Amino acid sequence: MTFHTKMFIDGTWTEAVDGGVDQVNAPTTGAAFAEIARGGAADVDRAVAAAEAAFPDWARTPVGERARAFLTLADRVEADQRTLAEIESRNVGKPIGLALEEMEMIPDHLRFFAGGARTMEGRAAAEFVRGKTSIIRRDPLGVVGSVAPWNYPLLMAIWKISPALLTGNTLVLKPSEHTPYSVLRLAELAEDLFPAGVFNVVTGDGKDVGARLVAHPRVRMSSLTGSVATGRALMHASADSNLKRLHLELGGKAPVLVYSDADVPLAVNKIMEGAFCNSGQDCMAASRLYVHADVHDDLVAGLEKAVKELDLGDTADENTSMGPVITAAHRDRVEGFVERAKATGHTELIQGDNPGTGFYTAPTVVVGALQGDEIVSTEVFGPVTSVTRFDDGDDVIAWANDTEYGLAASVFTNDLSKAMTASSDLQFGTVWINDHLPVTPEMPHGGFKQSGNGKDMSVYALEEYTEVKHVMINREIA
Ligand code: NAD
Repeated sequence: MTFHTKMFIDGTWTEAVDGGVDQVNAPTTGAAFAEIARGGAADVDRAVAAAEAAFPDWARTPVGERARAFLTLADRVEADQRTLAEIESRNVGKPIGLALEEMEMIPDHLRFFAGGARTMEGRAAAEFVRGKTSIIRRDPLGVVGSVAPWNYPLLMAIWKISPALLTGNTLVLKPSEHTPYSVLRLAELAEDLFPAGVFNVVTGDGKDVGARLVAHPRVRMSSLTGSVATGRALMHASADSNLKRLHLELGGKAPVLVYSDADVPLAVNKIMEGAFCNSGQDCMAASRLYVHADVHDDLVAGLEKAVKELDLGDTADENTSMGPVITAAHRDRVEGFVERAKATGHTELIQGDNPGTGFYTAPTVVVGALQGDEIVSTEVFGPVTSVTRFDDGDDVIAWANDTEYGLAASVFTNDLSKAMTASSDLQFGTVWINDHLPVTPEMPHGGFKQSGNGKDMSVYALEEYTEVKHVMINREIA
């Protein structure tokens, strides 16, 4: 398999201006497996200039034409999904089965956005002032600078590329320095679909390429999927540059409430998926479980059996359930949380297999965690979840809400009134009832509190990449 090692700027494949190159490591082995151009400020500047030059024509292109390009891209991604999945699997260390599932989702997301962009709404045109007609337009903003993470590199990029381009903006996208290859493959598939400069990919790290992009005075909007700390850096950059619009999809610490009447086998299944899918490197990961005392021991027993059965075998095997985490530094960070949870003295660890190569770490359930423990309050972003017992007298919704994160939560109960109360009282952007993790392009994904602002997917995402404009027409001219 070959990997694109150059950037895609102004319709051409290009090295970094200063010739810089980085090595990217394979998480399964820890060894370097491919090179990538290490962009810098000069590369960002030329990409932004290309995007700005391409903007007027692209903004005037009828939305149906833009949508056709996306429908063709969806067909090409569908035809290429095996290669894309192999790239993603190798680069992120994902089991190939999971990578294939993601690639199967992407054409559907592209098609949803292509259709949705043609149905944008505004208020009815009307005479709010006698003799004058008011209409609403939704105009693009200009050049958008987007920054993507490494956990779902292509899917997260699609959530940024699609609404930005379909509403008539042009884009400079920076993938994570750890996972640039699937987005570059996408750029190859899209090469002849967009005029030069409409879609640009600049590779490099956050402090050079990312920081320059989000502080660029000609960039009118920045979107990020990443950590809260990076979100804060974008807010500073926006304030210090040109008050650009921000769309921030940040971290999470999703609570799972398991009530006494829950279907325990179902909860175990969904928690396993929610906590360990993608090695727990998911902003919506089921990372803190609150379990009623009546079902606590059954649920823990179910999790113990399932965690011990998790298969951390060859990521090229479709039956493998979990791979490594992204880097050695991240593995050490994840293991630090587990060690400190153990050192509290009031927890017990349930751990699964650890092949011990590359950046693998053992899937872990921390039983007996207490509200206020670091493991319950801080995002680990790895294959670790905690179990906290609650009783009838405890206000478990207050415990769940006692966080600066607000991305996602779930509730397991067969009692409709408990489910409805929880879904209204939980301060999170998504609440699942008897489920955890599924997303669908028609529905918004985004955070409350410090999990960010703005929505990915759905028509809400398309709206965010537009400016609402009032046009008033005086009909009383001679
Ligand atoms: P990160 O914030 O370290 O990096 C994200 C991206 O930002 C990378 O491309 C990085 O190079 C870039 N970056 C870093 N510093 C920057 C700066 N100062 N200016 C501009 N760009 C900069 O996050 P990560 O480690 O790649 O991803 C993990 C985080 O992302 C977790 O907190 C996770 O919860 C979050 N996440 C959120 C969502 C969501 O939809 N809310 C989805 C996936 C991941």
